[in-house]
Amino acid sequence: MAEPRHRRARSGAEEPDKTCTVCGRRIEWRRKWARDFDSVKYCSDGCRRRGRSRTAAALDIELAAAIMELLEARATGATICPSEAAQRVGGDDWRELMEPARAAARRLEADGDVIITQRGRRVDPSRATGPIRIGRVR
Ligand SMILES: [Zn+2]
Repeated sequence: MAEPRHRRARSGAEEPDKTCTVCGRRIEWRRKWARDFDSVKYCSDGCRRRGRSRTAAALDIELAAAIMELLEARATGATICPSEAAQRVGGDDWRELMEPARAAARRLEADGDVIITQRGRRVDPSRATGPIRIGRVR
């Protein structure tokens, strides 16, 4: 089951969920970030390193664009596999781009541009393990 998209902060104000700008996974609020949660961008040190790499950032943009192009070329209800985007961008080296392609799909989902499914059902991309499919928002 999907988690609520908002949490209630101690102040009573709603803290919106944040998404890691690299892997697209939800960033859970932590007490140590209480004062500067607005400026938190990455869920981990690994994501911070990747987020600061220009080559990785360029690749991530290409992967997201590839996902949207592939989806637009399909029928409305059709889904694609992240590997299709990885192949489009990476050619023979596409396997290295599988996780980055899944991350691109998660970021797009967080932005409301796509949905992520498993066995035809929408899933929480922060928690989904195993093969996922990417579909258009209807
Ligand atoms: Zn991350």
